[in-house]
Amino acid sequence: MEYAKNILETIGNTPLIKLNTLTADLPCLVLAKYETFNPGNSVKDRMALKMVEDAEADGRLKPGGTIVEGTSGNTGMGLALAAIVKGYRMICVTTDKQSKEKVDILKAVGSEVVVCPTEVAPEDPRSYYSTAKRMAEETPNSWYVNQYDNPSNAQAHYESTGPEIWQQTDGKVTHFVVGVGTGGTISGVGKYLKEQNPNVKVWGVDTYGSVFKKYHETGIFDEKEIYPYVTEGIGEDILPANVNFDIIDGFTKVTDKDAAVYTQLLAKKEGMFCGNSAGAAIKGVLQLQEHFGPDDVVVVLFHDHGSRYVGKMYNDDWMREKGYL
Ligand code: PMP
Repeated sequence: MEYAKNILETIGNTPLIKLNTLTADLPCLVLAKYETFNPGNSVKDRMALKMVEDAEADGRLKPGGTIVEGTSGNTGMGLALAAIVKGYRMICVTTDKQSKEKVDILKAVGSEVVVCPTEVAPEDPRSYYSTAKRMAEETPNSWYVNQYDNPSNAQAHYESTGPEIWQQTDGKVTHFVVGVGTGGTISGVGKYLKEQNPNVKVWGVDTYGSVFKKYHETGIFDEKEIYPYVTEGIGEDILPANVNFDIIDGFTKVTDKDAAVYTQLLAKKEGMFCGNSAGAAIKGVLQLQEHFGPDDVVVVLFHDHGSRYVGKMYNDDWMREKGYL
């Protein structure tokens, strides 16, 4: 018999899938690292499990403990799966910008969910950063995960996602393009790939309203770059410790409208029913096309599944309301 001993054993080893339509005008091969195949339907299962295992190993997380995290949903899903299998209580603190589906899904897998306002500064006591921290302080035997600064986040991608991409492309990958939020994915995968071949180029996809691109180009944390935006999962108003700017060759910014439109196009033209950051990522690849040649193998990572966005980017009424159609 061949079976997984629990759901956590099915994390990782996701497929790499060629894009055929949206990238038809590009000279290179474009392959999607398709992370919706993880049991929680996102890449974040990988880092959630790694963060839990590392916290167990050094005693930050103890038997019967409570896991507390500020999460837009995907990390919460991964943590919730680990909490179920390993017997912990799970509290997710999120923002009112996140889709209702994401909150409902977290509750479905047994997580308690606290919703905070989006449009307050990170240091404001009502922000989800502050609330998550406070709840961890006030809850006995709890562990605050802090995916932004927790080194196990990037390390998970250094140990699993990066090696998978290298092996699946037979070492032929030349470019890696990916949306950046906590920075765990780009930093872990980018470090691994550059260690195998220093010529691999690593590009981050950022949003308008986020600080990453300007900071990478100038070293200046410019508060004028910060304003509300619609795109989910990527961009930040802080500089997480998990973003390793040294291994990133550049950023490209994708508009909210383009990210939403390309999320729909990925599903309609490629059959890839993915989340909003995948739309941003593939538009990012198209924006970067002058950097790619005929022998290049471009890997773009699609973080999560479309089901979490059916009330938004996959809903034409919502798209019209936003002026995107
Ligand atoms: N896309 C989605 C849907 C996400 O949930 C996240 C995580 N915030 C990202 C992209 C960015 O990944 P990372 O945090 O590893 O930079």
